[in-house]
Amino acid sequence: MNSVLKFFRDPELGSIEPRSFKVFNERSLERIDALYRLPEDVRFDMQVVASVLPFRVNQYVIDELIDWSRVPDDPIFQLTFPQRGMLEPEAFERMAALRRSGAGRLEIAGLAQELRESLNPHPAGQLELNRPRDPEGQVIEGLQHKYRETVLFFPSQGQTCHSYCTFCFRWAQFVGDKALRMASSEVEQVLGYLRAHPDVSDLLVTGGDPMVMKTRNLAQYLEPLLAPEYDHVQNLRIGTKALTFWPYRFVTDPDADDLLRLLERLVDGGKNVAVMAHYNHWRELDTAIARAAIRRLRETGVTIRSQGPLLAHINDRPEDWARLWREQVGAGIHPYYMFVERDTGARRYFEVPLARAWSIYREAMQSVSGLARTARGPSMSAGPGKVEVQGVTEIHGEKVFALRFVQGRNPDWVQRPFFARYDENATWLDQLRPAFGENRFFFEDEYAGMVAAP
Ligand SMILES: *Cc1c(COP(=O)(O)O)cnc(C)c1O
Ligand code: SF4
Repeated sequence: MNSVLKFFRDPELGSIEPRSFKVFNERSLERIDALYRLPEDVRFDMQVVASVLPFRVNQYVIDELIDWSRVPDDPIFQLTFPQRGMLEPEAFERMAALRRSGAGRLEIAGLAQELRESLNPHPAGQLELNRPRDPEGQVIEGLQHKYRETVLFFPSQGQTCHSYCTFCFRWAQFVGDKALRMASSEVEQVLGYLRAHPDVSDLLVTGGDPMVMKTRNLAQYLEPLLAPEYDHVQNLRIGTKALTFWPYRFVTDPDADDLLRLLERLVDGGKNVAVMAHYNHWRELDTAIARAAIRRLRETGVTIRSQGPLLAHINDRPEDWARLWREQVGAGIHPYYMFVERDTGARRYFEVPLARAWSIYREAMQSVSGLARTARGPSMSAGPGKVEVQGVTEIHGEKVFALRFVQGRNPDWVQRPFFARYDENATWLDQLRPAFGENRFFFEDEYAGMVAAP
């Protein structure tokens, strides 16, 4: 490729200083200077929670995204730093007592393991279902195939993130759950699977965060897809939170330009490349480096779509979503999904009842222009599929949730309206009951059959 790329001429780049990546985890928590403005007992609480749930934060997030004058309420602080309420009080007390007693690492790890088991580390049947096999019946590591058109791929070098989100639904893999480390380094197996499945139009590279990978590793998976035998794989999606946690990846990192060239080659080769950017708060878009990263990505011809869950303590106000969507659209990003926080990990701290989630979504939608009304949601990624809360209404005197699948394990379920009894407190699909005195949702028997015989 010898085109003169516009992204090398970005006039604002001159004002951006490169940064080297510096990161802290639960063992180096005490070395984060900014934390010393907090009371000692709050720092201890963080240690306790970080013994159980993953913790990782980098200096850019600490310096540029968190407003320390607003801690602990600051949304990015809540997004990245452990909070006492993320564990059940009893679990918290047990770990706190053990740490106070001066227990050693092994003992702490033992209790941590026990407490993690109670946090539903494997939601939505990820381990049993969705596992593709090769023609000999061998499970192919690092792939998930749940919906006909889309294959998820977890490259082994991309199974970490530049920081961890406190609410992450893949948290278990970051604290060493090997069963969940659905990683693959077998390029040929992955490509073979795609060749054998002409129904697959989308490959979604995910993690962790695939943008933690070196460009040359990413290229080894993506570049072969330009060959004619992969013409059916039209859409390459790359899931990432690097635009938030490490925008330098796209601007000043040593292989940032190589990455942009790779994306440009894929686009020029006829692929639709979609960067699926994970965003939770408009503050993530606020820095000059984050804006530069977005501009440079867009210059390559990729599209950027955004998705992220609705979370108590972080973004549970309609005005935050309206501003997030408005600023995204202004920056050329297409809002795609608002998710409901999944039933795993620290969900007790973050969950928002479905009824409230829908009213936040609706109010936010009402205050933005049509271009910003492209996000679907609130959607639950549950075992049978992605179920969207379409609204609360009354039918023949019964108050109900109107629901629909936006993705289904059986494509035939998609877009069929169905109804659940209204429940002000329900936070997940499994807490909903069918409306109108019925005892099963229309998909339940079929889904039970799929679970019984995957
Ligand atoms: C969300 C999701 C997809 C992609 O669904 P789209 O509606 O096409 O964005 C694919 N696989 C899994 C397992 C998912 O959860
Ligand atoms: S960026 Fe995504 S995978 Fe990584 S910690 Fe956050 S939610 Fe989890």
